[in-house]
Amino acid sequence: MPRIIVQKFGGTSVGDTSRIRRAAARAVAAQQDGAQVVMVVSARGKKTDELVSLAGEFEVDPPAREMDMLLATGEQESVALMAMALREAGAEAVSLTGGQIGISTDDTYGKARIRAISTDRLKEHLDAGRIVVAAGFQGVSDSGDITTLGRGGSDLTAAALAAVLGAERCEIYTDVPGVFTVDPRIEPAACKLDRIGYDEMLELASLGAGVMHSRSIEFAGKYGVPVVVRSSLTDEPGTLITRAGVPKRPVTGLALVRDAARVTLAGLPDRPGVMAEIFRRMADRAIPLDMVVQDLSVQGIAEVSFTVPQEDLAGALAAAKSAVDALDGAEVTVGTDLAKISAVGAGMPDRPGVAAKMFRTLAEIGCNVELVTTSEIKVSCLIARDRADEAIRAVHAAFALDQAADADAGGAPGDDHPLSPQEQRVRTVVEGLQGMEDIVVADVSLDAHQARLSVRPVPDRPGVLADLFEAVAGGPEDDPSTGATVDMIVQNVSHAGHAAISFTVPESEAKYAAELASAPAAAWGEGEVQTDPHVAKLSVTGVGLRSHTGVGLKLFAALAEAQVNVQLIGTSEMRVSVVVAANEGEAAVEAVRGAFGIG
Ligand code: ADP
Ligand code: ASP
Ligand code: MG
Repeated sequence: MPRIIVQKFGGTSVGDTSRIRRAAARAVAAQQDGAQVVMVVSARGKKTDELVSLAGEFEVDPPAREMDMLLATGEQESVALMAMALREAGAEAVSLTGGQIGISTDDTYGKARIRAISTDRLKEHLDAGRIVVAAGFQGVSDSGDITTLGRGGSDLTAAALAAVLGAERCEIYTDVPGVFTVDPRIEPAACKLDRIGYDEMLELASLGAGVMHSRSIEFAGKYGVPVVVRSSLTDEPGTLITRAGVPKRPVTGLALVRDAARVTLAGLPDRPGVMAEIFRRMADRAIPLDMVVQDLSVQGIAEVSFTVPQEDLAGALAAAKSAVDALDGAEVTVGTDLAKISAVGAGMPDRPGVAAKMFRTLAEIGCNVELVTTSEIKVSCLIARDRADEAIRAVHAAFALDQAADADAGGAPGDDHPLSPQEQRVRTVVEGLQGMEDIVVADVSLDAHQARLSVRPVPDRPGVLADLFEAVAGGPEDDPSTGATVDMIVQNVSHAGHAAISFTVPESEAKYAAELASAPAAAWGEGEVQTDPHVAKLSVTGVGLRSHTGVGLKLFAALAEAQVNVQLIGTSEMRVSVVVAANEGEAAVEAVRGAFGIG
């Protein structure tokens, strides 16, 4: 079997003729080295943005079908030019559109999902000694229409082609020398990572690190494709994205979403079905909810907040209003000009000190935190947009991310450490998939021995979160011998200067954690610590759970059906967790397993 390499070149890397020639030379070199080469190319420079604004000259909201027809031309231009450059360099080459390759997608114009890719035509060309130049970002629907995969989607084309061709690796050539601890445009002191695990990269990409499209990492992880991100202008080795090894430090990288908006549904009844009602309306409009925060109810009245990209705000607001009406809720409020900063690291589970340090750092620059959500490997904070850059830089320094360290001490690519049970389950599910980008739900599990603590009301000012979690972590240095083990942390939006914070700990540590938490409350002169010593945490584990709006919907619909009330929610791309009453845990897990067809 010949070795196959996929090389993807982003917009800047094919921006002008000299760059196109340079990219062509890389492909020719790889071919001369004995590999069959598939190039995936993006539209040149800012071409796609130009086309978007051109369309805007005619219609405020152009039909999605016509937009896809238009945007796909950018890539078509690039592939033809690239094929010419390859011929100039003495290679045989053929350019192909998504349709010609046989990338079939669903018909969600603008964010189409790949269903299948036929490889016959590609293989024929490769076996005939040609370099195949594939147009990124596009496919074709069953009805024969051109579709696009979402902005930045050429990465996805590259990962998908590498997966179906069984490529040795997928090389992503871009305008930075690799994946950095944070976007080097925000923090010039950011460090390049030598390698990073799929899970961490997926989380970072989905939390705003624009260097890779998150669905491309979903794909690469599912199919086990090693990805290398490197500069198209230099010969530095770049960053290898592969299966994780043992992380060397608690935080691997930071990500920023600059355009977040918050929607809060207040005065909701505290009963099963509320979340399902909200998620259904959002899923109908294909709006992915980002941070989802449901806080403990007070006197039977609950409140749910979530964030959405600013551009989805109008749709989210309409959906939220109709949900509030249907639920006899009180009102919908909105927060704008917000940003979400997130710290990601496979080394952070159970280390409340990581969250505490992030909170303390934000407090030290006087930055208030509006919402908090966490998952196993990330902490996200919603803050004012105009503080975002400063906040990123401060947190970056606090975790010493400006000092080089191998993010991940795992083995080499193609390394043979055995698949973890989670990876095995993902692979098994993937083998049975109908559509290549279908949801992969690998497991539904229950931890029935958790306790939930809520501290309320707490003052709504910088430093409160830091005080609380430093105390619970056993001090600013996160001392496990005196601290408690914290799992989920949730802070909802404040009212009249007061906020509420909830978190979970193992049942056995409930009393101790409550003692630790009551010290800062005493110092603030307010804040009652309430403990529910018996709650259960149900987790749905898989790949790409947040980008598929249907996952939340299915989960909450199943819980509603089983009459299970949801107390807290935590979401990430790899896991959605909900906290429910301990005596409802078994019923919940059964219902959710049934919904996802897991035995
Ligand atoms: P391409 O056109 O090659 O796909 P993109 O603009 O999509 O390039 O992605 C590269 C950009 O991603 C970089 O210029 C950088 O500013 C940004 N970026 C965001 N987060 C990171 C990160 N963690 N590491 C490296 N680059 C990042
Ligand atoms: N040209 C498309 C975009 O700008 C796809 C890509 O570059 O990956 O979004
Ligand atoms: Mg890109």
